[in-house]
Amino acid sequence: MTPAAASAPAATDAPPTTPPKPVILAVDDDPQVLRAVRRDLRTAYADRYRVLGAASAEEALRVLDALDERGHDPALFLVDQRMPGMTGVDFLLEAVSRFPDARRVLLTAYAETDAAITAINKVRLDYYLMKPWDPPAERLFPVLDDLLSDWLAAYRPAYQGIRIAGHAVSARTHAVRDFLTRNGQPFRFLDAATDPEARKLLAEHPTDELPLVAFPDGTFLPAPGNAALAARLGLSTTASRPHYDLAIVGAGPAGLAAGVYAASEGLTTLLLDADSPGGQAGTSSLIENYLGFPAGLSGGDLARRAVSQAGRFGAELLHPVEVVRLRSADPARILTLADGSEISTETVLLSTGVSYNRLDVPGADRFEGEGLYYGAATTESSSCVSHHVFIIGGANSAGQAAIHFARYAAKVSLLVRADSLESGMSRYLVDEIHRTPNIDVRLNTHVLALDGDDRLEHIALRDALTGAETVEPARFVFTFIGARPRTGWLGDIVRCDGHGFVLTGPDLSSADMAPPATWPLDRAPLLLETSMPGVFAAGDVRAQSIKRVASSVGEGAMAVALVHRYRAANGAPPRPNRS
Ligand SMILES: Cc1cc2nc3c(=O)[nH]c(=O)nc-3n(C[C@H](O)[C@H](O)[C@H](O)COP(=O)(O)OP(=O)(O)OC[C@H]3O[C@@H](n4cnc5c(N)ncnc54)[C@H](O)[C@@H]3O)c2cc1C
Repeated sequence: MTPAAASAPAATDAPPTTPPKPVILAVDDDPQVLRAVRRDLRTAYADRYRVLGAASAEEALRVLDALDERGHDPALFLVDQRMPGMTGVDFLLEAVSRFPDARRVLLTAYAETDAAITAINKVRLDYYLMKPWDPPAERLFPVLDDLLSDWLAAYRPAYQGIRIAGHAVSARTHAVRDFLTRNGQPFRFLDAATDPEARKLLAEHPTDELPLVAFPDGTFLPAPGNAALAARLGLSTTASRPHYDLAIVGAGPAGLAAGVYAASEGLTTLLLDADSPGGQAGTSSLIENYLGFPAGLSGGDLARRAVSQAGRFGAELLHPVEVVRLRSADPARILTLADGSEISTETVLLSTGVSYNRLDVPGADRFEGEGLYYGAATTESSSCVSHHVFIIGGANSAGQAAIHFARYAAKVSLLVRADSLESGMSRYLVDEIHRTPNIDVRLNTHVLALDGDDRLEHIALRDALTGAETVEPARFVFTFIGARPRTGWLGDIVRCDGHGFVLTGPDLSSADMAPPATWPLDRAPLLLETSMPGVFAAGDVRAQSIKRVASSVGEGAMAVALVHRYRAANGAPPRPNRS
């Protein structure tokens, strides 16, 4: 026996960017023959195939294990018949049971017609070749060319991206799918209950923690949280500088716009987001009223474009990184992150937006992520194909979601407490809803409860006009029922209105400036400046703001102009413009 000569594909840290080439596997126990056959195969096929070698049938089986595990496809086996231990035919028997489409060629030193006949019958041998095969251009390549071209004609490459094997209705599975969707990472979901590929993955990598996330390089993560996924995907979570001109908390439309303008105008700029860039807009299936996109654009596309634009100008983006505290250490402002680390910055923009109100009915907590979803229209749309989907809410986000789901679901019921759609929704959405035959609008409708065993099964509703209560089968309920500002983490360090929205500029002067948020300077706060000098707010989180993508973008851009004014007043040197 010769030492191991197999070159099974090695695991790498980074996912491959192109699908791996199909494999030609040569098996021969004679090292000289193996070297020669691999050399010839490489000469003719290395541009399209990966040529692997194994010095025994046993070793070749281990190569097959590695290929199988990584989802790589063998196209052709070129196997010596006479090997110690397992013969070529016995190896092929095992190999074709696992890779039935691969072509099979037996190499024999003598005219072993018996073995060849056995092989033709037992393993449906495609060809047998006599050694030596010189010249290969005449005796080897024409045969293999034919076999490979047959194989290629029927070949459908396996999906090479991220696979998620888990329960279709599970809060953890939903969280993983949502994170990948919002970060623009394509994946394939495999239902552990019904999909043979999922069962195979889970049999090979048994775990109690679902979902199992399989990466293209053959590595796996059981039930990963956002931080583990971010690390695996190579997302940046650590700041590169000790100090920034501007730190932006929240990378929704307001924060991203500020990032683009600040970085393009030369400020050292750090964007931090607790989740994924894009914010609420990132969850929108189609934004139809944003200037310059007459056909609309998805929130995911808007976010992706804005992130690359900000990056092009040099803004740094960290996510998922949650900011949990803000304090002043004059002249710097200090942000504390959830892991306890701190960011020092001259100015801060608060653009943390809003988060959905929770549905306050019995069963809502129990079924969150398992039938009841907040937002998540784009993440869950493929799960809803042919189902009946309920959408709760009467504002634009609910209307947009209803139109989006109507493309996938058999029926969409829009549950609205008000007595008209027009009272809460833009005209273009109301018209579109009325034009969509599988959307059923139920006005004056209140949700009473959600119920089910392992997953959501029923929704209880009350008609406010008649008082009639009904219970209907329900597997998918999406709520869009207003939002509250994400300012809890600020405590009382900046001044907010009674609902928790951050007060800025002129709104501060009319508010009671009680300690500890007393305004300390002679000048009045700038237009978007909060009660802490040098800390600004923009977008949905700001009191009195218009809750729209365009206005958030506008405020983000405006905040940067005010940051320049603040810095100039403090004697900071201007930065070179990069745009
Ligand atoms: C489904 C849906 C559809 C919509 N469709 C439209 C539309 O068609 N047209 C339109 O004009 N508007 C639409 N809107 C409204 C629009 O999306 C918002 O007005 C806009 O996204 C607000 O932007 P923002 O940057 O202020 O905040 P957000 O978009 O809310 O972004 C805030 C960001 O801050 C992050 N964050 C929060 N707290 C922290 C923290 N402590 N640390 C770090 N990061 C934090 C969040 O993760 C989030 O990414 C829609 C909203 C929704 C929900």
